[in-house]
Amino acid sequence: MIKELVKDEAVLSKKCTRATAEDEKIARDLIDTMKSIEDCACLAANQIGETVAMGAYLDDNEDAHVLYNPRIMMGLGAQKLTEGCLTREEPSKVTRYAKVKVSFDELVDGELKPRKRDFMGWTGQMIQHICDHCQGKLV
Ligand SMILES: [Zn+2]
Repeated sequence: MIKELVKDEAVLSKKCTRATAEDEKIARDLIDTMKSIEDCACLAANQIGETVAMGAYLDDNEDAHVLYNPRIMMGLGAQKLTEGCLTREEPSKVTRYAKVKVSFDELVDGELKPRKRDFMGWTGQMIQHICDHCQGKLV
């Protein structure tokens, strides 16, 4: 279901709780909402009002993926960037890594499975942005 974006800082600054397999409905809402917004390639659950640690992104082939409980384990090539956010008026200055190792859970047949993957470039940047949202950081 397409949800309304939440710009309330009280919601966005709350640290998100752990996502579970029962949060599959949120995953679907994230994808529906992300695809309904032009030029939107990533969205965290708290941006649609659910303070649960999960987020969705579109890969280079425009395929949607959902990460449950994403966490940056390691980053290489830190650089300072100015980054915009759908639910913030002003862009923020952030430090982003060119390459990150991320741990997350993936929903497979109704169960969460732990995964680790490297992400680079633009996709890596989106995932770092999603992780910030999950921590309740206003980016
Ligand atoms: Zn954002």
